[in-house]
Amino acid sequence: MESQNIRIAVQKSGRLSEESLKLFKACGIKFESGGSKLKTVSSNFPIEFLFLRDDDIPGYVEDGVADLGVIGENVLMEHIRQVDVVKELGFSKCRLSLAIPRNEEYSGIEYFQGKNIATSYPNLTNAFLTKQGIKVTTHEISGSVEIAPSIGLAEAICDIVSTGGTLLSNGLKEVATVFQSQAVLISNQQLSSEKQAILAKLLFRIDSVQRGQNAKYVVLNAKESDLEKIKSLLPGMKAPSVMPLAETGWVSIHSVISENDFWDIIEALREAGAQGILVLPIEKMIL
Ligand code: ATP
Ligand code: ZN
Repeated sequence: MESQNIRIAVQKSGRLSEESLKLFKACGIKFESGGSKLKTVSSNFPIEFLFLRDDDIPGYVEDGVADLGVIGENVLMEHIRQVDVVKELGFSKCRLSLAIPRNEEYSGIEYFQGKNIATSYPNLTNAFLTKQGIKVTTHEISGSVEIAPSIGLAEAICDIVSTGGTLLSNGLKEVATVFQSQAVLISNQQLSSEKQAILAKLLFRIDSVQRGQNAKYVVLNAKESDLEKIKSLLPGMKAPSVMPLAETGWVSIHSVISENDFWDIIEALREAGAQGILVLPIEKMIL
């Protein structure tokens, strides 16, 4: 039997595209992208890419036209689809928020009782407000939601926010968060066992890349007499590597530390006598 490719749908152009392609390239998957191509096959991994509008991706994955897809959780949750979320990808982070004109006084969620709200996400908006006993009328529009209040279409909006800059320049202020979103990898629920095996390989690579992104390789010099104190500060993958320096009484220590407590550890290392600290990015981390 001819061996099959797994088929993945990614956004053609928009806020998910660049990071999606970057992730697959970081996984060592080679393919051509860009231009007007709608489909491309990798030269070194059994995968083919379909480039689509993001809104179409969950439906294609549900129907099996694509086996996998990269999509914002916000779009996925708005329309209930029978697909599995197999991995949180950690990019395209944004939130779905309620916003009102800046000069309005905001008293709390009751502010919205009986109001008209413009949004591209009527289901998420209604679900969030109904749960709190608030009844509103949503007006679904597909783009430029932030101008709705100024043209008299609605009194408030519920839209995607990342920095809040767009809201501000349209005279709006964010008052409540409905949903926190990031990009996720979704999968069709009836993958063949051959495709499941390819997905497992892909997930293994994604994990290695993500682990590398969350960690730094640290090299430092220290006096041998400070070694024990310094070792106690370094978790590393196993124990840190310790190598003698040409100068007697001094050693070089190599270790891996997590991005999360990076600065705390660096400060503690300096206090413990570490010198010449080098911090290097890690491309991949295989366990
Ligand atoms: P398409 O033409 O494919 O339909 P679109 O205009 O609907 O694209 P984009 O604006 O490219 O969509 O956003 C795609 C996804 O990226 C959103 O659904 C959301 O998950 C995420 N996103 C949107 N705005 C931001 C932002 N400012 N910062 C980070 N992520 C964002
Ligand atoms: Zn879209």
